[in-house]
Amino acid sequence: EAAIALLRERIRDVPGHPNPDVVFKDITPLLADPVAFGHLVELLADVCVRLGATKIVGVEARGFILGAPVAVRARVGFVPARKAGKLPGPVLSRPYDLAYGSGVIELKDDALAPHDRVLVIDDVLASGGTAEAVLHLIRATGATVAGLAVLLELGFLDGRARLEPTLAGAALHAL
Ligand code: IMP
Repeated sequence: EAAIALLRERIRDVPGHPNPDVVFKDITPLLADPVAFGHLVELLADVCVRLGATKIVGVEARGFILGAPVAVRARVGFVPARKAGKLPGPVLSRPYDLAYGSGVIELKDDALAPHDRVLVIDDVLASGGTAEAVLHLIRATGATVAGLAVLLELGFLDGRARLEPTLAGAALHAL
């Protein structure tokens, strides 16, 4: 719990970013502290091992920063879920809602196999729209969703409730 307290200390609230209605959770102080970042990687790797995941899907862009070292630590493969137009070759695409407008998220169509158990990693769970789209993409490959792990959850946005039907019993861990 000392580790969690340190993680909490290293997340900074930035009011008014990227627009006046938002208090942005800035994780860059945590990333800059190797002790805090190390605890975060260990905690997420524990989740990965506990769930028996065979792959980590990291969500662009901060899900890459967290997901890649966790994959190495847990000795599983890393697969990026990218914004539209970045991945080469055949992809699976899924639109999702943003606070203003919408985005499209993509996975390579051969990145996962039906025998894979996938842990999705991102930094923040807000409305749940991004994670929901990624979970659908993973299922479209035939792979199993083992769970979703995030550093922090903005509870007042109710992403957890929105994701419940899509998670369909898979784990949701917010450190
Ligand atoms: P959602 O789709 O509304 O759940 O938003 C989650 C996505 O937006 C994640 O990929 C986060 O990286 C990003 N996000 C939303 N709010 C914040 C924040 O306060 N800090 C950092 N990232 C955020």
